[in-house]
Amino acid sequence: MEELLRNSEKLTTVGQLAAGVAHEIRNPLTTLRGFLQLQRERRSIDLQHVDLMLSELERINLIVGEFLILAKPQAVLYQHKSIRRILGDVLSLLDSQANLHGIVFRTLWEEQDAQVYGEENQLKQVFINVLKNAIEAMEDGGTITLEQYSQSGNVVIIITDEGEGIPEELLPKLGEPFFTRKETGTGLGVMVSQRIIQAHKGTMDITSKAGEGTRVTIILPAAPERRNDTGGAQPHENQ
Ligand code: ADP
Ligand code: MG
Repeated sequence: MEELLRNSEKLTTVGQLAAGVAHEIRNPLTTLRGFLQLQRERRSIDLQHVDLMLSELERINLIVGEFLILAKPQAVLYQHKSIRRILGDVLSLLDSQANLHGIVFRTLWEEQDAQVYGEENQLKQVFINVLKNAIEAMEDGGTITLEQYSQSGNVVIIITDEGEGIPEELLPKLGEPFFTRKETGTGLGVMVSQRIIQAHKGTMDITSKAGEGTRVTIILPAAPERRNDTGGAQPHENQ
């Protein structure tokens, strides 16, 4: 299976994705079955095993949850949205988690806000994924910088962290499904984010240096001038 996913050019078909998900879910399921059988044989419940089973269930839940974001075309509604407000909402959402890790957000906004035409929840998911990775990379705290400016019809958002970075040889693996270096990671955040940005006709670039930090640059087409958040709404298929 890993071979299949590696050989494919960054996952082109739903079939490959489904195969990958099935594979990733089978591992925790096997563990769950093993523990259940053991408890049945012993006719007793071991609380430590129950905790392990719960964490395996949580893993399945995380994997399925990330895929649902991509697999709900009817919930996708493209609208004119203020990029500043989307970023602001996400920052307040993650503020306490950042504080807890001794991390501060620094925002370098240009004076003028910009509008994008997109699906709010999906765009928020992208910034949540990117910022969570930044937070998780900065064990000793530090600063995460967010820049946003407009440039030749595009909105540019740059998120820079001072975390552990990614070794050069692993950079090509970013965006591959299930590539993770974390004990409890799903390895889906970057892939899902890239897919969402592509669906919005934008680009997402990641540069990184081990030991120094990581920079994620997201470029989205700017929406035409001044329409409010609900104006111009129309259903839009995701892929
Ligand atoms: P997950 O976070 O579940 O591991 P992601 O797809 O979000 O999955 O990220 C994949 C991997 O890419 C991470 O495990 C991590 O090793 C690396 N990575 C992503 N973003 C960063 C970052 N800002 N700093 C360091 N490593 C990162
Ligand atoms: Mg992640």
